[in-house]
Amino acid sequence: MAVVRRAEASGSDSTAQREIARLVELPEVQRAASQFRSQESRFVQWQLEMARIPAPPFGENARAEWLAKRFRELGLEEVHVDEVGNVLGIRTGSAKQFIALSAHLDTVFPAGTPLNIRQHATRLYGPGVSDNGAGVTALLAVAAALQELELALTLPVLFIGNVGEEGEGDLRGMRHIFSNPHWKNSIRYILVLDGAGCDTIVAEALGSRRFEIIVRGPGGHSWSDFGAPNPILVLARTIHGFSQTRVPVSPKTTFNVGVIRGGTSVNSIPESASMRVDIRSTSMTEMEYLEASLRRELELAMGEEARASEQRSPSHRRTSGLSHEVVVIGSRPAGELDPNAQMLKVIRAVDAHLGNAAQIQRASTDANIPLSIGREAIAVGGGGSGGGAHTLQEWFDGTGRELGLTRILMTALGLAGVSVLTGKI
Ligand SMILES: [Zn+2]
Repeated sequence: MAVVRRAEASGSDSTAQREIARLVELPEVQRAASQFRSQESRFVQWQLEMARIPAPPFGENARAEWLAKRFRELGLEEVHVDEVGNVLGIRTGSAKQFIALSAHLDTVFPAGTPLNIRQHATRLYGPGVSDNGAGVTALLAVAAALQELELALTLPVLFIGNVGEEGEGDLRGMRHIFSNPHWKNSIRYILVLDGAGCDTIVAEALGSRRFEIIVRGPGGHSWSDFGAPNPILVLARTIHGFSQTRVPVSPKTTFNVGVIRGGTSVNSIPESASMRVDIRSTSMTEMEYLEASLRRELELAMGEEARASEQRSPSHRRTSGLSHEVVVIGSRPAGELDPNAQMLKVIRAVDAHLGNAAQIQRASTDANIPLSIGREAIAVGGGGSGGGAHTLQEWFDGTGRELGLTRILMTALGLAGVSVLTGKI
């Protein structure tokens, strides 16, 4: 996930604080928190095992099977892999609505990338070890704690190891879950576990749209066919017009032309040219405005180049022969959590209790999907620390991981509601 810092943060409220204080007093909750410390070697084992199973975009099957086995071992119910490859499992509760905890399984690394996952003291190294080794390990650590706790939950907890978060995966795993009417109507809260750390609360979904624009023409010899319309000139005219579109500072909105290709040689009029454009904003309206501007500038450029082509070679009076195609290669919806949302109140109360300073942030994560349809969702890290995400030098350090895990567990319990103690104290 790409993270952008946001300055302001809302406080917790007293009802949430009282509920968290009550939970903290439960001896079983205290025991769970202390076990997070003593079980670090088990967590490291999971994290190494998982990171050694390749999970390129659209190739997460083996890792999903591994996770389904862990879910079964930890006593989750109805464990299964769905149609697109998401792994689901349930810890039961008395109510019908769910709190979901999710972590993405995929990495950005293509099939065949040498993984070379290794450990030196408290540090783990290798691609995907933190993003999202830390998130998936946190998912398992919380499932293990709930198995031990023997608390009666009000909301059942749905554990999700989902596919397709990164890049071209385009959030397909989470999209699939929220396109299923059963899950769409029954997931009340979703806590997304992504990467390491415990100093952030991602409550704003950074939206993006990505396009590939392809322009084709008749091509020809630069001298003898002079005048034929030129696809590279169409792109140049489009970029010139589009790059003058005004974007607001707030809500922050950006655009980029990141790749441009085309042509065969310096003395050929190109037969085709293409470019890739990235548009981002926290506001759907601003993204739509920019997309409309891009499409309009392309149409104008097509007309201008056709007319210019006739002027360059009036004797030929040729028909233009230009065509274009706009392919959407990525679309992530924007959205943001209501500052008075229950999830924010609860995690704020948990952070206050743990003395954990966390900033509200804006990022592109699996939470984009539920946030864009008005559902309560936040994304947090799985504890510990990490760096070098999306590189072969990625690392994770489990020192202090228990703080992040306790934070996730308490937030989940605070949202699920703990009604009765059924265990032996
Ligand atoms: Zn991630």
